[in-house]
Amino acid sequence: MAETSNRASSRPTRSAVVERVFDHNDDTRSLFLAPADGSKIRFIPGQFISIAIPLPDEVRTRPYTIASPAGRDGPFEICFNRVPGGRGAAWLFDRKQGDVIDFTGPYGTFTMESVPASETIFIAEATAIAPIRPMLHRTLASSGHPEMTLLYAAPSSDHLLYRAEFEAFAAGDRTFRFEPAVIPGPETYDRLLAEAQRRWVSADANRTRHFYICGVGKGVSALRDLLRGAGYERRAVHYEQW
Ligand SMILES: Cc1cc2nc3c(=O)[nH]c(=O)nc-3n(C[C@H](O)[C@H](O)[C@H](O)COP(=O)(O)OP(=O)(O)OC[C@H]3O[C@@H](n4cnc5c(N)ncnc54)[C@H](O)[C@@H]3O)c2cc1C
Repeated sequence: MAETSNRASSRPTRSAVVERVFDHNDDTRSLFLAPADGSKIRFIPGQFISIAIPLPDEVRTRPYTIASPAGRDGPFEICFNRVPGGRGAAWLFDRKQGDVIDFTGPYGTFTMESVPASETIFIAEATAIAPIRPMLHRTLASSGHPEMTLLYAAPSSDHLLYRAEFEAFAAGDRTFRFEPAVIPGPETYDRLLAEAQRRWVSADANRTRHFYICGVGKGVSALRDLLRGAGYERRAVHYEQW
């Protein structure tokens, strides 16, 4: 987990009740979780909770990002997909309405604490839109935010989560561009790297942009390295690799 602080053991464990289950497609689900003590979860857009997953032979801890906008009343949302051989994800898929989940947090430094001052590019694939969704809600709600682009790739249109919401944002805000792309899984990062090279490295000498990148595997660090290597400030290229 790159550039993400996980101090799971130093925080008290909390419990949340599964209030609602929503299937985005055949392998991606959201759980809406209500803290059992009636409190509201406070978090910075981009943060995750660490869920304790009691398997028969081990208790594993896995981070899941809060996918709902910050500052809202009511349950918060986590969104996840099945992973080949992934026993933690499989356990989450077995949770039903009324079940209780133990977690600590929120944690994480892949966050948007304030609205960036210059053009911001968000790059995500499939479920890894989770941290970026609350960031977009925050920035789009602020007046005078800079130009923003969301480049969002997934292997099928079913896996472009929250698509209608992003389309509505783009329709109502000329400074936000939503660019969904259906790309077969193995080609995803080659295509994203080529796009980033063409538009934000080769096209001009502007190096004031901010980037927020989230996805699974080494393609994320390849994007980070491309942008930082091209002269973007290290702290302006935020990334989280699952
Ligand atoms: C900071 C952070 C936040 C995360 N937030 C989310 C989230 O909001 N939703 C979510 O679904 N997952 C998220 N993950 C991944 C999640 O924590 C688990 O790694 C994932 O569910 C697999 O756990 P497992 O125990 O089932 O499988 P494991 O046996 O631990 O398998 C891990 C393998 O699965 C890969 N992997 C991790 N996540 C995915 C994925 N989503 N799709 C395909 N392969 C994956 C890893 O790269 C690794 O190779 C996050 C990871 C990090 C580091």
